[in-house]
Amino acid sequence: MKVLVTGGLGFIGSHTVVELLDNGYEVVVVDALYNSSIDVADKIKEITGKDFELYIDDVTNEEKMDEIFAKEKPDAVIHFAAYKAVGESVQKPIMYYKNNLLSTLTLCNVMQKYNCKKIVFSSSATVYGDPEVLPITEECKVGGTTNPYGTTKLMNEKILKDITIADKDFSVVILRYFNPIGAHKSGLIGEKPNGIPNNLMPYIVRVASGELPELSIFGNDYPTHDGTGVRDYIHVVDLAKGHLKAIEHAVPGIDYFNLGTGKGYSVLDMVNAFEKVNGVKVPYKIVERRPGDIATCYADPSKAEKVLGWKAELGLDEMMRDSYNFILKCKEDK
Ligand code: UDP
Repeated sequence: MKVLVTGGLGFIGSHTVVELLDNGYEVVVVDALYNSSIDVADKIKEITGKDFELYIDDVTNEEKMDEIFAKEKPDAVIHFAAYKAVGESVQKPIMYYKNNLLSTLTLCNVMQKYNCKKIVFSSSATVYGDPEVLPITEECKVGGTTNPYGTTKLMNEKILKDITIADKDFSVVILRYFNPIGAHKSGLIGEKPNGIPNNLMPYIVRVASGELPELSIFGNDYPTHDGTGVRDYIHVVDLAKGHLKAIEHAVPGIDYFNLGTGKGYSVLDMVNAFEKVNGVKVPYKIVERRPGDIATCYADPSKAEKVLGWKAELGLDEMMRDSYNFILKCKEDK
């Protein structure tokens, strides 16, 4: 089977391409390099010993996408390409809505034209807003997103649902990710945000490696076991494997799956685990809460296990080890 992966050089995309190649899929990547680097293509080839087609193009460019589909004739699509910085989305809503919606619309239009009717969409637990019940199941209410980025994920889900209503052959699998961290165990690919990181794990590794002086913990007065925010962190390799299960499962209509571990860890749990596993200190200070943050968020991932046969296998120690290994390797290569 030939799978077209948009955003295939990004953090989750690159790990998914590795899993696809390792499992015998033919892969075509379309990536505009907005938040990724061309070197990742070589690293994927180094890890897998396999080659794939790469197009440096923007998914919103319909003419280009048409050419790519005409030439490659993919059987299925995994759609990662999107802007993903929460803070930036608040500053630049037009840019976020335009890019994140137009890319899906363009892609689906071209898919229909070429009779490619299977898509796995990269969504997020952010669509649940501030959850009313925990753990979060797929039946929980969606909405109440707190920033344009989150709203684009929800709107994309709705667009895809409407496509399946109009076109009974269209298969959509929505994967709602919890908090992906970690890196490939080789240390060759991982998460490398531009500038100062917004997310917890990239920030911790930069502090540990001495690039940033200390971590700011956003609030210790939440109703959690130690007052700091609780999230469901999932190893990116486990997450990547979930996409293969989703592609294999896809049937006409739309289905939604939480990809998380089902366990919640606080910011302080994360700092402590990182220090223990890697034997380095992570200096921190407690600061004000970050606007828009919720106290606790973790998944009920049982539907993915029951229906897709997928379950997260890697634990917090592997996530800590691999995240740090990647950043150390990046420093060595400089
Ligand atoms: N967090 C923090 N300091 C940081 C970045 C994040 O204390 O520099 C906290 C944040 O308040 C939340 C958790 O870490 O409780 C995870 O934040 P992240 O941005 O990684 O993910 P999200 O909030 O989108 O789930």
